[in-house]
Amino acid sequence: MLSIQEARQQILAAVIPLTTETVPLAATPGRVLAEDVVAQRTQPPYDNSAMDGYAVRAADLTSGSDQHPVQLRVTQTIYAGHAPTGHVNPGEAARIMTGAQLPPGADAVVMQEKTRSEGDKVFILTALSPGDSVRPAGEDFRTGDVVLRAGQRLGPAQTALLASLGRTHCMVARRPLVGVFSTGDELCEVEADPMGRIVDSNSWAIAAQVAECGGEPQRLGIAPDDRSAIERLIAAADDCDVVISSAGVSVGERDFVRDALVARGVEMRFWKVAMRPGKPLAFGVHAPRLFFGLPGNPTSSMVSFELFVRPALLALQGCRTLDRPRVGVRLTQPFQKAPGLTWFVRANVTFPGGQPIATPISKQGSGLITSMTSANALLVVPPEVESIPESGEVDAILLG
Ligand code: AMP
Ligand code: MG
Repeated sequence: MLSIQEARQQILAAVIPLTTETVPLAATPGRVLAEDVVAQRTQPPYDNSAMDGYAVRAADLTSGSDQHPVQLRVTQTIYAGHAPTGHVNPGEAARIMTGAQLPPGADAVVMQEKTRSEGDKVFILTALSPGDSVRPAGEDFRTGDVVLRAGQRLGPAQTALLASLGRTHCMVARRPLVGVFSTGDELCEVEADPMGRIVDSNSWAIAAQVAECGGEPQRLGIAPDDRSAIERLIAAADDCDVVISSAGVSVGERDFVRDALVARGVEMRFWKVAMRPGKPLAFGVHAPRLFFGLPGNPTSSMVSFELFVRPALLALQGCRTLDRPRVGVRLTQPFQKAPGLTWFVRANVTFPGGQPIATPISKQGSGLITSMTSANALLVVPPEVESIPESGEVDAILLG
């Protein structure tokens, strides 16, 4: 049986990054950038006001206060998107709105709340230093700055940055096309009246997990526990970059996934990992395609995906960060397990008073979908550990 680390290394070693493509801005969220992005402009383009207030010369205001306000003469009003009409001379101020360009001569802005106005006069009730409430030109980025790096996953903030750079398109990794199918005589489709059968939920979980890490899932259906039926679904996934099945990878008499993969020319690399849930996990390669035979139990399938398929899909897209955040947490109750396997314990992590604490979900059965729906983290309990006391520390993978 392979350790988690060995299994992961073998998988990542088999990854051949996908080609790239240029996509419009609207299609960037969730994609992995395939170019370094260099700013071709400067933002903000000019010094501007961070407040609604008055643009002033700080030298006029070394001593302003509530008791001894400084009186200035207001010579212009500057709105966002409109250019200043004149210079601010000693003893003068310009009424200015947030985002409006700072007029020449001014070097600070006083917020409206710290002023009192009377006709064309304004009384400043505070002292100021140069630069106060001014957003300097180029504070966000300057021409020539590398603002995003290849391998970075694009989210709302990155998309905003691309837009502000004037980038209508950018180069990203192609989305991996991922064929997903389920196996098992006991399974039926979600629309069916089960009549004692189990609805195939794994392919829905897997498809959602694939989409969540940037892949394009293609659900291929259910194969009964029959080698040639499984082979037909593997063949139907011929144009996919990755194929993921669930169930039928254990040592049961009707576990045919491994045989079917081998019959289709897939080179099996391993089929067991020292973990719980999810010990049976088949991984094979038919270069450049990767095959994952996930275990059938719904929680095992989801946890195995998290640990092994997710990093592979992100690596295929050239992503630099393959792992979810991990934090050290303290247990709210003692925990016990048998030695030998790494356990991934579904748990709830909260941060009362800033320190993370974890409460394991009470029912940990690998067949229980509810053990995943009510968890927001996986506690990683190493193979050799047999017990953790209350308040003992353990690593947690935060599931977003
Ligand atoms: P197996 O890996 O074939 O031994 O299946 C283990 C358990 O997972 C059995 O209880 C199956 O009924 C269940 N199972 C297998 N495939 C699915 C699926 N696609 N959706 C939900 N449960 C499944
Ligand atoms: Mg089965």
